[in-house]
Amino acid sequence: MQPPLGNERPPPPGRPVSAFVPGAAVPPPPFAAGGPFARPPQSGATAPAFGAAPPAAMGGFRGPPPSQGGPFGAGPPPQGPFTTSAPPSQGPFASAPPSQGLFASAPPSQGPFATAPPSQSPFTSPPPSQVPFAAGPPPTGPFAATPAPFRPPPSSLAQPQSPTGGALPPPPTYARPTQGYYTGAPPANPQFPMSRPAFQQPVQTMPPPPMGPAATFGNQAAYAGPPVGGTLQSLVEDFQSLALSSAPGSLDPGVDVKGLPRPLDGDEEPVKLMEAYPLNCHPRYFRLTTHVIPASQSLVSRWHLPLGAVVHPLAESPDGEEVPVINFGSAGVIRCRRCRTYINPYATFADSGRKWRCNLCTLLNDVPGEYFCALDASGRRYDIDQRPELSKGTVEFVAPTEYMVRPPMPPSYFFLIDVSVSAVRSGLLQVVAKTIKSCLDELPGFPRTQIGFLTFDSTLHFHNFKSSLSQPQMMVVADLDDVFLPLPDDLLVNLVDSRHVVESFLDSLPNMFHDNVNVESALGPALKAAFMVMSQIGGKLLVFQSTLPSLGIGRLRLRGDDVRAYGTDKEHTLRVPEDPFYKQMAAEFTKNQIAVDIFSFSEKYSDIASLGSLAKYTGGQVYHYPSFQAPTHGDKLKLELNRDLTRETAWESVMRIRCGKGVRFTTYHGHFMLRSTDLLALPAVDSDKAFAMQLSLEETLMTTQTVYFQVALLYTSSSGERRIRVHTAAAPVVTDLSEMYCQADTGAIVSLLGRIAVENSLSDKLDSVRQQLQLKLVRSLKEYRNLYVVQHRIGGRLIFPESLRFLPLYILAICKSLALRGGYADVSLDERCAAGFSMMILPVNRLLNFIYPSLYRVDEVLTMEPNKIDASLKRLPLTFQCLDTGGLYLLDDGFTFLVWLGRMLPPELVNNILGLSLANFPDLSKIQLRESDNELSRNFMKILRTLREKDPSYHQLCRVVRQGEQPREGYLLLSNLVEDQMAGTSSYVDWILQIHRQTQS
Ligand SMILES: [Zn+2]
Repeated sequence: MQPPLGNERPPPPGRPVSAFVPGAAVPPPPFAAGGPFARPPQSGATAPAFGAAPPAAMGGFRGPPPSQGGPFGAGPPPQGPFTTSAPPSQGPFASAPPSQGLFASAPPSQGPFATAPPSQSPFTSPPPSQVPFAAGPPPTGPFAATPAPFRPPPSSLAQPQSPTGGALPPPPTYARPTQGYYTGAPPANPQFPMSRPAFQQPVQTMPPPPMGPAATFGNQAAYAGPPVGGTLQSLVEDFQSLALSSAPGSLDPGVDVKGLPRPLDGDEEPVKLMEAYPLNCHPRYFRLTTHVIPASQSLVSRWHLPLGAVVHPLAESPDGEEVPVINFGSAGVIRCRRCRTYINPYATFADSGRKWRCNLCTLLNDVPGEYFCALDASGRRYDIDQRPELSKGTVEFVAPTEYMVRPPMPPSYFFLIDVSVSAVRSGLLQVVAKTIKSCLDELPGFPRTQIGFLTFDSTLHFHNFKSSLSQPQMMVVADLDDVFLPLPDDLLVNLVDSRHVVESFLDSLPNMFHDNVNVESALGPALKAAFMVMSQIGGKLLVFQSTLPSLGIGRLRLRGDDVRAYGTDKEHTLRVPEDPFYKQMAAEFTKNQIAVDIFSFSEKYSDIASLGSLAKYTGGQVYHYPSFQAPTHGDKLKLELNRDLTRETAWESVMRIRCGKGVRFTTYHGHFMLRSTDLLALPAVDSDKAFAMQLSLEETLMTTQTVYFQVALLYTSSSGERRIRVHTAAAPVVTDLSEMYCQADTGAIVSLLGRIAVENSLSDKLDSVRQQLQLKLVRSLKEYRNLYVVQHRIGGRLIFPESLRFLPLYILAICKSLALRGGYADVSLDERCAAGFSMMILPVNRLLNFIYPSLYRVDEVLTMEPNKIDASLKRLPLTFQCLDTGGLYLLDDGFTFLVWLGRMLPPELVNNILGLSLANFPDLSKIQLRESDNELSRNFMKILRTLREKDPSYHQLCRVVRQGEQPREGYLLLSNLVEDQMAGTSSYVDWILQIHRQTQS
């Protein structure tokens, strides 16, 4: 029997989920109310109780929400997402008036953020009889006086046409226009309007939720009622529209390219929510895809986008504020006795303070004597200011002994290192040994930290680190079929006691295998051995793999070059593990609190799909360094390994998200193992991991006015304390679809959609996955259009909610991401799978930057004063049109820096930055950028450093490419310019036109 694994589709209803308990006849009841964290030591066969679940949650998986009909629903086949044809001038838009002002149609908001006086709002009086969104040239149009949210500065609006008539020439694959479209444009490029602050929505028009424990449920009726002012008011939506028309006799598709919305400010955390919901946790920890809950199934089915959340439980706290830690002492952790919700700011007190009402299930609970406090006249506890758990959305509780079944484990690191010939020749061993040695002082958990190493090629090499030894002893085990430990102890040792032996090992590791010419790799048996060493304690297993596993159990075969599989029903099988061994191993690892990180270095196919599943089901992470060579990739490996080893880590953890009556989470997306229906097992978790989940309504109609969510992560800290991190948030229930659009969170939607798409690519063709994404977008915009088009005769315009203005581009970017773009020839299979694994864990901001990377023009800021450079760096739209042949540009996707040298760049500048003359160094693939002794180089390296410091989770490998240097320029840069047309893919303009056409059909 294969154990069910966390990220798979749910089995059919009724099939019990016995979460990785092979051999255990009856899963113990882990959720008994008030039950201890009852896991028999080391057996691992039972799940740690993490409070009680509502009885309904015990019945195993349920299917996906019926109304959604599967993740993407069924529907008419959409237009192919990557058809390249832009409509000709006689196309569907030919009849629309030519060259209307861009965005001239956006009505102002009436809310508190509106910039126009109410009398100018088109909706405070009946709409004009003229077609309101197409009449007249912009200066005299009905909305001309109103600053539209997206309108570019007047100067650029007034410009008649771009030099090339506003039309993007359709370049062939990787072809570039001979000269920059915006030659000489300043770095800020005012022709491209920068994105503007999010949240133009009048959030404050919604009555706030209870501001404190004193509030009652009764005062929120306004949430569920119709919007103030009825239908008219509900139309006062801050929506956007794009003019899509064609000038007669031209191929100009009629879209002002420069005016298309672009997310050049990156992620926009919905921080405005904090004003309306000051008791909520910061949205960095918990973000809904729309910050309202639909009141009915019919509303859900009209939403079309995923309904769900992104959770980043250990995110670095906003503003560096420390999360308050609370120890309830003898009172015990205060939780609802029915649903096990932790006490939180939305709990209310009654009976003079002797009872508290659970905000999730409404049960009236007793307040323990030790926790009692009298209430003031408004029903608030007098001690509320001294109680962070009653005033803050994010707190951490110290968990007493009933949350443990064994003493909290020490942080433990075990390294499994492939020492076959490719690892030796690439210089990998030096880098790994040196980096680990340099991190020994910073490993979390001093003085309890445990450490151990196992090396392998065609045999397994155990190393004895007994503290009384002066040198480690190596023991070779050649029997791969029946792996055994040659030594009962001292393979995983206390770092303080055995420090000198460990250091001696790391010093000698590179030389130990210096002459190794063994090409074999017995990874499977090595994993089994590592499991035997670690199973008592748990911890982190770091696997360094340089070649395709070739011996023993879990050996893999070359299957990555099977071009014939693409486009067939077999295509997806290349992206999933072929041998169930890896999933089974992952299940065993998770059960024993072992998280696996994979570092893969092969120059050839190494089956990341199989290896990565070890990380996927254990809360781990996949690092991919294709064709690793120490001189080139050494720094990247060093800094990423350093981050992995020294970041704060939560051990032996489980996470659950409770939500109020009427809604429930149905599917989870990320790296974890699902234990029971809603408990995520995370042997280790840290600030670099985020999770996403989908939500559905349990009933046809919601009867409450507010839904509460509570994320609880129970873990062992590196210092050996059992802790519970709790994030609580509230969201109003709404009956109006337009409210859902108002409160939509593009970052969360893109995060969830990206993860669902990656998962779908494991069971479907890439092309189908992209079509499903497009279909979602079309259906959503169509629904939105139907809300407005009749009343306002918007005609040939594409309209979309202000909150979702970047969604079309981001969905195009997901389709063009490494994980999902093209087919066989576009991305190597390993690279594709590695990118997919990354997309499953990235927090929202990093994911957005990964799929829509930051592009900067750098040469113009290099001569500035160093302290002004940062502010002068402005992101540019991702199109070749932005690149000036006389410029130097930097592309940053969070994993790689790409430095692009324009053909006309002054040679002195190039020489100064590269530290050598290009003429003498034709092969830029080997170049190492180092700081040279000149101002330009210093400033340039400072820019790289600053960008790296902004996001330390990965270290960007810096690559340099010259304009026209093919094929490197193609796959390093051009394939990342997601707004341009590439082989078989649409440009941003074409994409918008396609979407528009489909929303009208
Ligand atoms: Zn409750």
